Amino acid sequence: MNPQPENAPREALDSAFSQLAIDEALKSPGNARVGVVVVRDGQVVAAGHRDEVPGLHAEQVALQKVSKAGIALRGAEVYTTLEPCANSRTARIPCAQLLVEAGVATVHIGQFDRNPQVNRLGWKYLRDAGVALRDFPANLRAIAAKANQDFAQNFTHGLGMSGGAKFDFTTNGGKFTISLDEEPDSPTWETRWGNCGATAIYLNGGSPGRVALARYAGKFDEIDDPDALDYESHFAKVPIGSIGVMRSPRGHALCRVKKIEPTPDYGGTGHVSVTIDWEIRLAVSL
Ligand SMILES: [Zn+2]
Repeated sequence: MNPQPENAPREALDSAFSQLAIDEALKSPGNARVGVVVVRDGQVVAAGHRDEVPGLHAEQVALQKVSKAGIALRGAEVYTTLEPCANSRTARIPCAQLLVEAGVATVHIGQFDRNPQVNRLGWKYLRDAGVALRDFPANLRAIAAKANQDFAQNFTHGLGMSGGAKFDFTTNGGKFTISLDEEPDSPTWETRWGNCGATAIYLNGGSPGRVALARYAGKFDEIDDPDALDYESHFAKVPIGSIGVMRSPRGHALCRVKKIEPTPDYGGTGHVSVTIDWEIRLAVSL
């Protein structure tokens, strides 16, 4: 499709193919934007983006095209804006496995998955299988990350008057930032979560006056004025199903703990995580 001059420097080719993968990623519908370009003998033989075929990952789309065209993949290079997935909660074969089984020789990665539960798992799977791994050039890594930013932010940052999130509370200092919107001066609450066991989790305020437990309340609308709660402690122990409240001059972030996957010493068997819902109550500005 795109023959490249044989004497083009390796770096120039890598940049060109990385850029093509990013262009492909930007065609993805929705927030998770991932693009893939498959190269053989210096030529692009297929490209694909996430949900180009509804429900399929970018790698699956590209590999299907290659397969339909009857092109052998052994020795091919793949440029992907996000590291391939290596685990799957469904019957889906993880993309890293598909690439290995197809005999792909080299995978160029634009960004590692920001989800701490799967971060660098795709890289590891490919490394263990003997696939050569390269990173996109630095300037294009930044662009690849930006293309996928809305999706990545789900795991460290929540936006909106209400929402939900699931994140690993043992990485990133247990921080999960909730903001009303993307404006620079948007009301923001930096919640910090800490290990407390299988049935409860600590919401840390750092100093008294910031966090409270809405004891026995299980629904946000059961809380009338969140300032009526007790903010004496510098942390709140929030059981599953209960609501912890984070207070700032801009208002309150109400966080209901839905699920905890604890650390192994508390009997956890999967990836450590906490699942929360939140609701913002803005302070009435006078
Ligand atoms: Zn995948």
